Amino acid sequence: MSALAVSPFATCPGLFQPSAAQDGLLLRLRIPGGLLTVPQCEAIADLADQFGGGYVEVTNRANVQIRELRAGITTEMLDRLQNLDLAAPLAAVDSLRNIMCSPTAGIDRLQLLDTRPFVAAWNRYLTTRPDFAVLSPKFSVCFDGGEAVSVRDRPNDISLVAVQIGEAVWFRLHLNLGDRGAAPCDVKVLVKPEESLQVLSAIAEIYRDYTSAIDTTKRRKPRLRELLHDWGVENFLQAVARHLPFPLQRSERTDNGSLTNGYQHLAIHSQRQTGLSYIGTILPLGRLETQQLRGLATLAAHYGSGILRFTPWQNVLLPDLQTSQIAVVQQKVEQLGLHTSATHPQSAIVACSGTTGCKSSATNTQADALALATYLEEHIALDCPINIHFSGCEKSCAQHHTSDIALVGVAQNGYEAYHVYVGEDASDEDSTKFGRSLYQNYAFTQLPGLIEQMLRVYQNQRSHSQETFKHFVNRYAIAELHQMLSSSSDCGLMGVKG
Ligand code: SF4
Repeated sequence: MSALAVSPFATCPGLFQPSAAQDGLLLRLRIPGGLLTVPQCEAIADLADQFGGGYVEVTNRANVQIRELRAGITTEMLDRLQNLDLAAPLAAVDSLRNIMCSPTAGIDRLQLLDTRPFVAAWNRYLTTRPDFAVLSPKFSVCFDGGEAVSVRDRPNDISLVAVQIGEAVWFRLHLNLGDRGAAPCDVKVLVKPEESLQVLSAIAEIYRDYTSAIDTTKRRKPRLRELLHDWGVENFLQAVARHLPFPLQRSERTDNGSLTNGYQHLAIHSQRQTGLSYIGTILPLGRLETQQLRGLATLAAHYGSGILRFTPWQNVLLPDLQTSQIAVVQQKVEQLGLHTSATHPQSAIVACSGTTGCKSSATNTQADALALATYLEEHIALDCPINIHFSGCEKSCAQHHTSDIALVGVAQNGYEAYHVYVGEDASDEDSTKFGRSLYQNYAFTQLPGLIEQMLRVYQNQRSHSQETFKHFVNRYAIAELHQMLSSSSDCGLMGVKG
């Protein structure tokens, strides 16, 4: 057996550096762009069966996690994973964050360019540079090709976002200047796609030199945004320009664009390729049993192009299906025990690992989230995805941006309770990273009834059928929401008003 190092400081586990969790060792495999071939799926399923808990978890960066490992994996398995490009050629850079692109890159009807070759090229470059091992493992890059399923708002250090200017397609450079979980901002730089890897390389080298000058034995490695705050964006961009053999193209204006609902990849959609469609399938809390993973891989091999695509919303796409066969494939997906409807209550429920995986958790978020989804399925018909985020503590590992409803676990006299947040209000100083506080210390036993009531009030009182839950709750003061909920039910009395 190989001896894998387990570091108590491995806050970002990789394949070569698992971290210790409540339920055993945790391994994470980088899946650039979330794209997996059938042989890769088979190897991951074998890995989870032989060494882990017999299931995989898809993360919010479209990585794959294997939990419940009791010992290191064998060198034979490591070799197999490396030969299949499931591990970096250099172990030291394997824990750098996964490279993100839209799960519909190359098949999206609205895309301006196919970002998959850029993801592959940047991954090859990044994972063969030993000097980049010094970077924070949170260093993260995203390519957005202008798809309907946009990833431009996902938290990344750098996003290159495709835009059309005249006849040409360019990338706009977005850099993350904000807090943890914030979306990167347009910094008024245009990049020719064919020069994008040189620009990324220049940024990584400047960041490497900045990090190397810091004694990281005494403090954690700096994030790229700390360098940007330290130097200022303009000085940083001038340094990037000095690294390049061509001028850095500046833009007069910013373009942060408009965003779409992130769950629109679920269910059946036509591809840009005539006669082909994809099916977006829900993975409950990102979890996939190995027999389901093998089943999806078999469907991809038989009906599709032999590819699965994991999404940053912790779901999976089965692409390149003949539209004429789509109903047959959908039925076979559902026979694997997976749902494909975007309005199924499981579609947009997110939870961190909770007490089973994390000692910081006050609540069993995973079990509570699944129990809530089951309750909602039995009690209410949704007509749009509702993003409900369970977090076992304030750290918010599972989702960094605000949700429709956030539930944050608290220890409450030996029973499970949650603080309840809704919507968001940047102008309200009482608004938290989870949103606006609605109730505190709400007993979990009463929570499903409360959520059902909230959703009924929303469905009955929204201004029009397209009004989002977040927009709806943001229109009301918290006291008004309390009033609306208590006049339609008494379940709101079980918590302390926020
Ligand atoms: S949010 Fe808190 S409880 Fe949940 S996994 Fe992260 S640290 Fe653990």
